[in-house]
Amino acid sequence: MSFSHLDRPVQFLKGVGPKRAESFVGLGIATARDLLYHVPRRYDDASTIHPVASLEVGMDATVVGRVRSKGVIPTRSGLRVFQAVLQDETGMITVAWPGQPWLDRKLRQGDELLVTGPVKFFHGRQLQPRESTVLARAGAEGRERGRIFATYPASEEVPQWVLRGVFERNLEALLSWADEDEYLDAEAASARGLLSLSEALRCLHRPERLEDAERGRQRLAWDELFFLQILQALVRHRATLASPGRRHLRTNALIRPLHDALPFELTEAQTRVLREIYADMTADRRMNRLVQGDVGSGKTVVALFAMLLAVEGDRQAVLMAPTELLAEQHARRIGEMIRPLGLDVALLTGSVGTAERRRILDGLRTGGIPLAVGTHALIQDTVAFQDLGLVVVDEQHRFGVRQRMALADSPEHHPDVLIMSATPIPRSLALTLYGDLDLSLLDELPPGRSPVKTYLRLPDKRESVHRFVETELERGRQAYIVYPLVSESEKVDLLAATEEFERLRNEVFPHRRIGLLHGQLSGEEKERVMRSFLAGDIELLVATTVIEVGIDVPNATVMVIEHAERFGLSQLHQLRGRVGRGAGQSHCILVADPADGSFQRLKLFRDTSDGFEVARLDLEIRGQGDLFGAQQHGRDPTLRFADLLRDEALLVRAQADARRVVESDPGLAAPQHTRIRGHLLSRYRDRLEMFGVG
Ligand code: ADP
Ligand code: MG
Repeated sequence: MSFSHLDRPVQFLKGVGPKRAESFVGLGIATARDLLYHVPRRYDDASTIHPVASLEVGMDATVVGRVRSKGVIPTRSGLRVFQAVLQDETGMITVAWPGQPWLDRKLRQGDELLVTGPVKFFHGRQLQPRESTVLARAGAEGRERGRIFATYPASEEVPQWVLRGVFERNLEALLSWADEDEYLDAEAASARGLLSLSEALRCLHRPERLEDAERGRQRLAWDELFFLQILQALVRHRATLASPGRRHLRTNALIRPLHDALPFELTEAQTRVLREIYADMTADRRMNRLVQGDVGSGKTVVALFAMLLAVEGDRQAVLMAPTELLAEQHARRIGEMIRPLGLDVALLTGSVGTAERRRILDGLRTGGIPLAVGTHALIQDTVAFQDLGLVVVDEQHRFGVRQRMALADSPEHHPDVLIMSATPIPRSLALTLYGDLDLSLLDELPPGRSPVKTYLRLPDKRESVHRFVETELERGRQAYIVYPLVSESEKVDLLAATEEFERLRNEVFPHRRIGLLHGQLSGEEKERVMRSFLAGDIELLVATTVIEVGIDVPNATVMVIEHAERFGLSQLHQLRGRVGRGAGQSHCILVADPADGSFQRLKLFRDTSDGFEVARLDLEIRGQGDLFGAQQHGRDPTLRFADLLRDEALLVRAQADARRVVESDPGLAAPQHTRIRGHLLSRYRDRLEMFGVG
């Protein structure tokens, strides 16, 4: 790796030294590069900084001024208040910090301060800061008038004015070293609307206008997104390009009869997604595609067409489901759809008897069985195929990048891989999490569906909610009542839910058959309960676990969600998707306490039935940190500057660029890629290892 000045420890910078370097560690600053990337957290300019003369009682104001006088004032209540008089070129104002007498020792007369807070009336105008910062010490040069004013993240050990002083002395050198990190030539940068690295960092530290800081941020966001996409592209390369692909032969011998046999026309979205899948399958390179579609958007049919394309070209296709019950349901539905074609599908799960199992394994080995559905057991080593051409995986959220890699590496056949997900996520998030896959969106529901009606009810309306459930049960329908289970307080929650279950069973619905499903049950027990619900033996299902997998119980028409405020919107949407799967009108009732402050969020949810819209709201409300948190890798520490809601366009471009780079030069060995490789090795080594690429 080539040496860069930015790799040097921060202590070699002017005005830093070993002791101060140590105090920088708390801010995450160890090297010169860390310091350069320690950019301001807020910016003020004439539009946000108020001249003292303009301050009026009731305003929320930001003022910059010098301390003229100061002191601690005792009050009658015994509270000690630190006060300072701040002066700018238009006048003076009293600033008061109740209960912070110690500030008297920290601040000096002549210091330049930035304060933000409400202006109150107290023997005249008085500003009470929420936030205050020493910008410059007494005697030191203060802010230049008319410039943008930047405030850095600081700490007790490294106050604002220290950081400012260090940047004062070193910024030019740091910026000149930034060129050593640059991997985009001027032309490439400007074609993407990006600043050079050193321009971007200058804009962030010393913006001339507020927009400059945003342009600077965009360039650093680009870098983050681009390198993540390089990693994903390396995974993708290994999965799709490095291994030999399967070129499927499309004859329409099965596809056309299926079209004819289906009692409906495909939606436009289904047709588009199938076109994308067919193009992949009939090309030389290997398919590695994710289909995202809301519950009910018709993913199973799409999967079936893809499987028939493999089979009509004389290869085998399998579909894997996360549970036995789901596998059975898929097998039954697929079986019904292909019966008119004179075809059959085998079902292979753990509970298939020995003789049947042997028959299926033989069929798969000899090719006598072209189509099979099963659990993950289906692609174990013991199962041999004659010529496996396509693997469809249902419900990818249990299926991490490692498992995708394992599938991709499956030795003999290099089957095409199609992953179906019923958890819509915003495109930008999908590109980030699944950048190694190609994406298809089923963003349209078949016509004639009546969306699930959603209601929001206060806890004191619970009785009428139960009466409503009873009327639906009376009509022969089935219902769910779901309780949240948050891991930290799981025992308490579980207790609450079981008690509630007893109460519902003994007092509210004593004449109904009612079942309980919760996380402490074994997988087998869970399946048994689900099976009785599916068969109609249980009329009302009380559940604590999110009944996440896509079990279809078309007769279930009511979903009651207790403490709805404790669920994320995407989770609520998954739950709502459990009903509305049959012909009858379905209902989803959220019971929530408005005191919690999340009512607004729940109202937004009530008013939209589009899963992609729900996911976008979720991202907006909870922030990207949380969404990553819900995934397996935890919060993504590499996204400091990128904002998945704002930077989607940037992300799309970054993905295209990264794929082009990796496809043309998978080893990143070409001279123009040396710096990219250097960055990867120095900053993303853990990821390279995690993904098993390098
Ligand atoms: P998903 O798996 O995406 O939740 P399914 O594939 O289970 O959705 O389809 C839901 C229901 O809609 C099934 O009964 C299926 O037969 C039906 N369906 C699928 N595509 C269409 C279509 N284009 N028009 C009408 N009904 C459809
Ligand atoms: Mg499905």
